[in-house]
Amino acid sequence: MATPVIKSDHAAQQRPPVSEPERRRLVSYVLPVYNEAGGIQTFQDRLLAASQTRPDLDFEFIYVNDGSRDGSLQILERIAESCPLVRVVDLSRNFGHQMAITAGLDHARGDAVIVMDTDLQDPPEVSMELIAAWESGAQIVYAQRRSRKDTPMKRFTAHAYYRLLHRFADVDIPVDTGDFRLMDRATTDVLRAHRERNRFVRGLVASLGYKQVAVPFDRDERTSGQTNYPMSKMLRLAADGVTSFSTVPLKMITRLGVATVVLALLGIVYAIGLRLFFPDVSVPGWTLLMIMVLFLGGVQMLSLGVIGSYVGRIYTEVQGRPLYMVQKVVEHDRDAEPLRR
Ligand code: UDP
Ligand code: MG
Repeated sequence: MATPVIKSDHAAQQRPPVSEPERRRLVSYVLPVYNEAGGIQTFQDRLLAASQTRPDLDFEFIYVNDGSRDGSLQILERIAESCPLVRVVDLSRNFGHQMAITAGLDHARGDAVIVMDTDLQDPPEVSMELIAAWESGAQIVYAQRRSRKDTPMKRFTAHAYYRLLHRFADVDIPVDTGDFRLMDRATTDVLRAHRERNRFVRGLVASLGYKQVAVPFDRDERTSGQTNYPMSKMLRLAADGVTSFSTVPLKMITRLGVATVVLALLGIVYAIGLRLFFPDVSVPGWTLLMIMVLFLGGVQMLSLGVIGSYVGRIYTEVQGRPLYMVQKVVEHDRDAEPLRR
């Protein structure tokens, strides 16, 4: 029987370190889905095929069902059953694209997180290029549209809007960039710490800083269904983008107020002049009275407008409602490590 050898600490220190197999890196996909029943299976197939070109990486696909009304959830549940990489986060109602992305980011566990649309307008193959850019050191990689195949109206409004936003916004929001991007773990966590309600995710990401890199791509047509961004939703997103990252509208109100006050002052001078030098022409008291009323009314209305825009923001912040509510999380990979929240 071999006598057990008691190794001294010293001996242990002398041993060369055991080379542990390097931990495989996990890439999460955050995939918002709203009424995509027609194309979601094709999307999943293409995404899976693309991910299989990188057997050295682990993947998880987090589909966020944003209150779809067309059976997308049933299809997603079936996909989750057949593919252990898939998790489905089913929101309790439609919270909108930006909230769906936020919910997905909260559920992502990867070392890198990729956000992309599920209507195949963002080609899954391009996400492999985003991963490559991340591996060469970038922390945020955004996919920038070289071209897009949308209606001329959408192309025109998007083109104009992104340039306007770029000009007016306080942070440098890159033009022609949607929410298709990759973020590493650190920047994802920082983004998640922003809990503001009227969110314009691409603006928030731009405001984070860090090492950001662009990868150009050609945006495809929708494969099925129609855009879930009708004019009203697009205008709201556009307004969120402007009001979250620019004080230009508020400044414009203030300028308008100054202009009104100046005009009113000129009016008062005119009224006084008329009264002093042509007392016969003017109806006594009337001109001055009218100008005073208009002046005070104008100033008060404009001040109220400025205060109102702040009160509106305070109101939504103070409400403190949860940003979204999850109905359930479909998860077929039971051995997965617990969620990081
Ligand atoms: N989407 C969402 N909730 C919504 C609207 C859209 O999750 O309320 C998803 C939709 O499924 C798609 C992405 O957001 O994956 C982009 O939407 P869409 O294609 O309609 O926008 P567009 O490409 O026309 O700007
Ligand atoms: Mg689309």
